[in-house]
Amino acid sequence: MKMKNFILFLFACLILHSDYLYAQNAGAGSVDRMHRDVALLASDSLLGREAGTIGEQMASDYISGQMKQIGLLPKGDSLGSFLSPFRMSYPVIFKEAKLMVNDIDFKHIEEFGATDLSSQGNITAPLINIGRGINNSDNSNGDIQEKIRGKIVVIDIAYRQRNAENPEVLSHIISNIKSAVLNGAVGIILHNSSRKPTENLLFGSPFTESLNVPVVYIARLPYNKIAKIKTATCKLSVEIDRSISKPANVVGWIDNKSSKTVVIGAHYDHVGITRSRTGADKTPQIHNGADDNASGTAALLELARWAVNNESLKYNYIFVAFSAEEKGLFGSKAFCSLPWISPSNIVYMLNMDMVGRLGCQGDTMSVLGVASSPAWDGLLDKTAHPGFSLKRINGAPAFSDHAPFLKKGIPVIYFTTGIHPDYHTPKDDTELINFSGMTELIGYLREFIRSAEALPEIPFHKINPLQHTKAYIQTF
Ligand SMILES: [Zn+2]
Repeated sequence: MKMKNFILFLFACLILHSDYLYAQNAGAGSVDRMHRDVALLASDSLLGREAGTIGEQMASDYISGQMKQIGLLPKGDSLGSFLSPFRMSYPVIFKEAKLMVNDIDFKHIEEFGATDLSSQGNITAPLINIGRGINNSDNSNGDIQEKIRGKIVVIDIAYRQRNAENPEVLSHIISNIKSAVLNGAVGIILHNSSRKPTENLLFGSPFTESLNVPVVYIARLPYNKIAKIKTATCKLSVEIDRSISKPANVVGWIDNKSSKTVVIGAHYDHVGITRSRTGADKTPQIHNGADDNASGTAALLELARWAVNNESLKYNYIFVAFSAEEKGLFGSKAFCSLPWISPSNIVYMLNMDMVGRLGCQGDTMSVLGVASSPAWDGLLDKTAHPGFSLKRINGAPAFSDHAPFLKKGIPVIYFTTGIHPDYHTPKDDTELINFSGMTELIGYLREFIRSAEALPEIPFHKINPLQHTKAYIQTF
């Protein structure tokens, strides 16, 4: 966008924003509350709410406090808590890793990566390749144990058992690594000689332990460079960022004693302190993420304030503020892996991500995921939306928290005011949020939620991948 256009765009947003200052209508209370929530979440003191940082914790504290005040019941992991922590895995907690065999220097992430089992460490030791590990018939003679003491050990994770389930394969790999470590291995390099992508199990798995040596995986082609080497010196180091703690979703609910539950979600994390996506200035700056997605979080709380006092609602409602969306939907994926999240008890999932810029793409609110249920079109026809026009998009690409629900066969509906030039830049600030537009959305969603309860059922329909691609192009 040219600078002149950009200034006009900013100006347009400011005019829209000033609406709220003078709005003394019925929605004024709602405008004030959402303004307060966004201003707080998107203030510099929360340092951009990066998942796993103190800024994220401050945000989750605030959201928990609001949920409590609203009167939602806590649905976190421990009694009385709204917090549901989860483990965020590679590449997030691994800062840097180095692998050098003789003078071959392998490229981190491209050619090898630290697995979720790895500890921190920096070692130089001789290399030994022990095929498929100590516990394997390749190595039935006992002196292998003697040979690996003090060495960095190369193990093949190929698993020859047919139809083996993932947990079985994983426990085989782990027991192999553990035996090597027990026998004095100081580092482990894994590779896979089979065609099955067994290595996927080593990343993003819910391991509860890490071993006390660095454990890396090296990809097929780079492994070939060392496959034939008999003796070598190996340097292996893995750095872990210990300042990153466990992020947490914030979960509250309304128990209407129904067998059916609706999930309403919005992510509250943002990208933290980083270099701007645009512009020449490459010094790290706080990214406040007022639109992305303090706006959705404020809308989530405002909907909860309405729903908790609405005795005509018959389903249960879960309000979840997801974390680590920006890192790769870790929060919503963790939430969806809870055993009770299934199409049989979740009626639908409503997602709000970037809902604060009504007016910056005309008066249009985009609604995605329309093809995930044949019920949505009729419902959208019936629900009046005087303040904006609705752009219906059938697909719902995997860039926000509805995606893991869709994968589980749960109908989704995702509202957004769309992308704008301030997206993922330090300019995404509270001053540019259109709070009266957000209030219009809240009014609309109340109607939507009520009408959805009146439907006999909301069947799931699988979305064609081409529709997702089309939706991606339409939204960006
Ligand atoms: Zn977002």
